[in-house]
Amino acid sequence: MKEGINIYVRLSGYSNQTIGEVRLQAWDRHERIKRGLKTLGTFWGLALVAILIPGLHFVLVPTLLIAGPFAAWRTSQQHSIILGGQGTCPDCSAPFQIAQASAHWPLTDLCSQCSRTIKIEPISANSTVETDSKTEAQGK
Ligand SMILES: [Zn+2]
Repeated sequence: MKEGINIYVRLSGYSNQTIGEVRLQAWDRHERIKRGLKTLGTFWGLALVAILIPGLHFVLVPTLLIAGPFAAWRTSQQHSIILGGQGTCPDCSAPFQIAQASAHWPLTDLCSQCSRTIKIEPISANSTVETDSKTEAQGK
């Protein structure tokens, strides 16, 4: 799961703009269902292990069994994610690490050097819009 595509992003500060790069991971319908089932398996697997923990199993087992389907549903609804990236802070020119986040453009992040908010948006919108429309067309 180290794939993803590189896309260029524009980092906008108060006065300047710089170019950076992020890795975007997108999942089609089939992959989303698979990820959801994997999450469900993890939660229910942990519930099985929790049976062995004295005392705590009264709370952990039902919690994990109930939370599993919710977490699986949430995971299956996630179309794409920003795995991370880097650029240069437009305000103080320090190297800037873009943290992992869900792909809701524009992203905002804080520079660790100058503590200013940086707006991050894709430069070529084609590559990101394409992945969303493709999944709709597949249907049944
Ligand atoms: Zn900065």
